[in-house]
Amino acid sequence: MKQTNLSIFIPHKGCPNTCSFCNQRFISGSERAPFPEEVREILAAQVPLLQKNNLQAEIAFFGGSFTAVDKDYRRELLLAASEYVKAFPEQYGGIRCSTRPDCIDEEIMEELKLFGVTAVELGAQSMNDEVLKANLRGHTAEDVRRASGMIKAYGIELGLQMMTGLYGDKPEYCLETAREFAELKCDTVRIYPTVILKGTMLDELREKGVYNSFSFEETVELCAKLLDFFEEKNIPVIRLGLHASEEVAKQRTGGAYHPALGDIVESRRMYRKMLAEMEKIGGSRFVIYTDRKNMSLVSGHGGCNKQALAEQGITFKMKEKSGVLLEIHAADDKRN
Ligand code: SF4
Repeated sequence: MKQTNLSIFIPHKGCPNTCSFCNQRFISGSERAPFPEEVREILAAQVPLLQKNNLQAEIAFFGGSFTAVDKDYRRELLLAASEYVKAFPEQYGGIRCSTRPDCIDEEIMEELKLFGVTAVELGAQSMNDEVLKANLRGHTAEDVRRASGMIKAYGIELGLQMMTGLYGDKPEYCLETAREFAELKCDTVRIYPTVILKGTMLDELREKGVYNSFSFEETVELCAKLLDFFEEKNIPVIRLGLHASEEVAKQRTGGAYHPALGDIVESRRMYRKMLAEMEKIGGSRFVIYTDRKNMSLVSGHGGCNKQALAEQGITFKMKEKSGVLLEIHAADDKRN
């Protein structure tokens, strides 16, 4: 059975924080917090669809700092979700939520455990205190360590979210953040390259000319390294980049944003593997065997790998080989 998330957006209205990248007016103005009865209606309506598609969903309360919203409201939402997990265990495999690292304590953990929450994602953003401070996050790296330890101690899956290219950030700080995430034994990671939105502190800094996040190229290189690192550590990266949205495209004034960022980064990783292998073999004409499903990855997003190799005088033909990711031969190899 395939796994999926059924996301229910819970905006954090009246959030007392002023994170540099967040446009609260946009967030709180456009989204209304759903009533618990509406959540029940959504969950009930999804049951036959999940059954039909042989899917099991986690009910995901995302969008803001779930554990910081009004306690009674939060409990009603958790009650609604837990009713559906109990009634339809085949269709609803658990409950997940996202929150801030400083909004986790023993009382909250008891509550999450009581309602059967299976995963908590923390918006850590960076493990560098200077970066956290410069971006007015209002929490420290130590808060992330403490909250992560608590979530793991309660036997709940730990997800950590990081941003790259915040004000004062450097690629090496991001790699250090990744290393700390692995030390905290997180179960999943989400990576969000900073997108500068209108009306944020980052946008003001950009207008003053003192900040402009990492370039697109720097971001692709960095994200490729981060994916290599998390793959080596066996930690799934369940999201790279913001979901494509018209609203983000409209509000964006800078930062690395592309609706297909994940594909572009995966293409870059494949390019590096291909180039390393080709350099080992030597020559400039190759045949690449790969499974049909990997062919676009080998060519690269929009043919970027083919083009980048051609610029170095390297050409290749692709041949289909089932179950193979990458097998490269010199073009004059008799095995072709
Ligand atoms: S990102 Fe920061 S300012 Fe925006 S809602 Fe979350 S905690 Fe509040």
